[in-house]
Amino acid sequence: MSSRTASCSCGQLQVEVQGEPRGVGMCHCLACQRRTGSVFAALASFNTPYKVTGTSSEYVRTGDGGSRFRFRFCPACGSNVFHTEEGDTGRVSVAVGTFADPAFSAPRVSVYDCRRHPWVQLPAGIVAFDKDPA
Ligand SMILES: [Zn+2]
Ligand SMILES: [Zn+2]
Repeated sequence: MSSRTASCSCGQLQVEVQGEPRGVGMCHCLACQRRTGSVFAALASFNTPYKVTGTSSEYVRTGDGGSRFRFRFCPACGSNVFHTEEGDTGRVSVAVGTFADPAFSAPRVSVYDCRRHPWVQLPAGIVAFDKDPA
């Protein structure tokens, strides 16, 4: 199976995932805008197992649906690299930008479209939800 490695900006925090992503999505919610410093988050989820190298700091945020998400970021450079959802041990969500691969698959799903900056255009064929359907 093929593997990919995502890395923070300074390189000390890395996560290696296996196989193809089970989903790629973008989130326009205000929490993701603040969390990333960008105007939307692009995330790819992968099946476990995954391998983490380096040290990470953690920020836990409770989503609108009550789920608790544990975001891992580099304590040295601050890049948000990956997160997991408490109680869901089968997958990891990795920030697409940390792969530094412009050929990475485009997102198929867009959530929190109600918060999307109007100048952000969605890729053709994407499924958009006003909030989070989960
Ligand atoms: Zn770093
Ligand atoms: Zn979000």
